[in-house]
Amino acid sequence: MSGALFDRVALIGIGLIGSSLARVLRRDSKNTVIVACARTAKTLEAVRRLNLADETTDDPAAAAAGADLVVIATPLSAYAEIGRKIAPALRPGAIVTDVGSVKGVVIRELAPLLPAQVHFVPGHPVAGTEHSGPEAGFAEMFQDRWCILTPPPGTAPEAVQKVRAMWEMAGMRVVTMEAEHHDKVLAVTSHLPHLIAYTIVGTATELGEDLQSEVVAYSAGGFRDFTRIAASDPVMWRDIFLTNREAVLELLQRFSEDLTALQRAIRFSEGDWLHDVFVEARATRRGIIEAGQDTPAADFGRHGALPHASGAPARDET
Ligand code: NAP
Repeated sequence: MSGALFDRVALIGIGLIGSSLARVLRRDSKNTVIVACARTAKTLEAVRRLNLADETTDDPAAAAAGADLVVIATPLSAYAEIGRKIAPALRPGAIVTDVGSVKGVVIRELAPLLPAQVHFVPGHPVAGTEHSGPEAGFAEMFQDRWCILTPPPGTAPEAVQKVRAMWEMAGMRVVTMEAEHHDKVLAVTSHLPHLIAYTIVGTATELGEDLQSEVVAYSAGGFRDFTRIAASDPVMWRDIFLTNREAVLELLQRFSEDLTALQRAIRFSEGDWLHDVFVEARATRRGIIEAGQDTPAADFGRHGALPHASGAPARDET
């Protein structure tokens, strides 16, 4: 025993999120042995170069063997295959957690594959950037952000507590909620905004050549911020929409009704009504700043294109 929260942590998937967690463990839990698993030699080579792990492998089962914590940090579409591979290798009493952006599907697809004597604590650190891969990670990414754990009923409280302690070590505020509730909340705060960004960027891209260059030149008017969101990893976002289908479709229905109402107000010059809607939106923005989830800096949005003073990229939530 090393006295560390976990003696041996297997990070299955070591891209943006997995490598950021590796950096936290390197910083705050020096006695923890980190085993990193990725598919490609290129990623594993980067992990060794950046000294993010003590051991590297492309075999999830080899990574999971002997670990007291296994963190799955791959795209959601890889979970089932990984679950099947690691299940026979997991040691009794091991904790399996994940960082996936959708939680219902994880409980439906991964939980049945895991042996009974293994603890399963699904999680979602609500922090990230539009970048991918181990080079893109940084330990401060999680600072003051929320981490949502969605343990299924009957999960051992000690296992939940240990996963909570790890994310608190990363600087996160940790809450637990039901997976279905998580998926509805994130559909509103993350999934729909990304879908809107993809739509807007797609529409602009389809415009004619001349207009397109002007769209880029004058992008600071708001479009630029949508392009940052829409630059997020395509595999990850495909998986999010396919696995949180019900919540997203329900929300989209509501959103398109609201959009139609705005369209109508513009058509019929209902200025007072538009004004009231925009006043309400401003209050929401103030609430987010008051909750410490963003700053009121006048250049909001611009820091997405430029490095922070600290050199760390701008963060958002997925
Ligand atoms: P990423 O940077 O693209 O990294 C994905 C990692 O998974 C890579 O190391 C990749 O290895 C590995 N991988 C992919 N398929 C694999 C497989 N079949 N077996 C083993 N390893 C595999 O992704 P990310 O942004 O860290 O996202 C990972 C998870 O975090 C996703 O489930 C996402 O929903 C969640 N999440 C993301 C954010 C965000 O802002 N990005 C925020 C919160 C949660 P190779 O490089 O070798 O292919």
